[in-house]
Amino acid sequence: GSTIGILGAGQLGRMLAAAASQLGFKCRIYSDVPGPASDVAVSTTIGAYEDLDKIAKFAAETDVVTYEFENVPVEAAAAVQRVRPVRPGLKALEVAQDRLKEKQFVASLGLPIAPFAAVAGPADFAAAMASVGVPSILKTRRMGYDGKGQAWLRTDNCLPRGFEIIGEAPATLEALVRFKFEVSVLLVRSIDGEVRTYDIPQNHHDGGILRTSTVPCVLPPAHQARARDIAGKIAEALDYVGVIGVEMFYVGEGPEPLLINEFAPRVHNSGHWTMDACAVGQFENHIRAVAGWPLGPTDRHSDCQMTNLIGDDVHAWPNLAAEANACLHLYGKHQARPGRKMGHVNRLSPAGKGR
Ligand code: ATP
Ligand code: MG
Ligand code: MG
Repeated sequence: GSTIGILGAGQLGRMLAAAASQLGFKCRIYSDVPGPASDVAVSTTIGAYEDLDKIAKFAAETDVVTYEFENVPVEAAAAVQRVRPVRPGLKALEVAQDRLKEKQFVASLGLPIAPFAAVAGPADFAAAMASVGVPSILKTRRMGYDGKGQAWLRTDNCLPRGFEIIGEAPATLEALVRFKFEVSVLLVRSIDGEVRTYDIPQNHHDGGILRTSTVPCVLPPAHQARARDIAGKIAEALDYVGVIGVEMFYVGEGPEPLLINEFAPRVHNSGHWTMDACAVGQFENHIRAVAGWPLGPTDRHSDCQMTNLIGDDVHAWPNLAAEANACLHLYGKHQARPGRKMGHVNRLSPAGKGR
């Protein structure tokens, strides 16, 4: 079998490596810190993402390289690409790691998105306030995750206070969306451009962190088709290879029932239910795509609710391990810090029987 390189050592890398191993691949990890993926890969190279020589040497020991988080510097991915193919490509990485570029890209495709504006810093907000106004959310352009680097703004003069919360970094201001609920599209695209999508989960967040993803969701069929169509257009425009997760707000009736929130150029937390409710889950399909294999089926054989185990939630593992029809996944992290994703549980029920 051949060897897949993964940039990043988090839990997504761990589950990618486990899926790859099932298909006879070996995985090598490159990361600036050891992490949950290191335990299941054949090797972990610890190095800075700025150490382009080290990254190139790492790449030479693999056949193809993917990434498990979107904040890998584009220069690092470019250094890999001089040696081995990087899938998904550099464009997906470059666009998705910068909220402003991401929103501009989505808008340039004519796809639906809430009003937004760039804000360079606390002194530059008159234009953004004039065009977006309040209520709105100030978000750092880079490095935000799990709702970190965000400040909710409710009054006209509160932007300086927003920057106190997020720090003095370039930001975007976006209108607060009064959504009915959140959904995401998990789409996989092969090297030949074949596209498959999983069923659309309904996602519930708590304090900015994904709590549950549930399938099936109650999105009307026509709007599900629209959601898939939107994700397909993004993947096509990026010449994407692998799994992409596109987060959307469902706003309901009207000409545009869905607004794009953001997309992740990788396997996505809201797709973790596919591991147990589908014959081929998102991790295996990502590996298949980047390895140039045919895609696997994305059909769902069970209804499922995925619940993240965040922080101290993980201490309930003995009960979860004993629960009928509950598939437990633990990431092997040593410390259960508040807000830290420690594992997840997929609760299955027969398809179509409701919950
Ligand atoms: P992730 O962990 O998904 O990468 P993130 O830190 O990049 O999260 P977002 O997805 O931008 O953050 O926001 C986190 C959550 O905050 C969203 O899923 C949604 O519940 C809420 N949220 C974000 N932006 C908006 C908005 N414009 N209107 C209403 N709610 C929002
Ligand atoms: Mg995000
Ligand atoms: Mg998000």
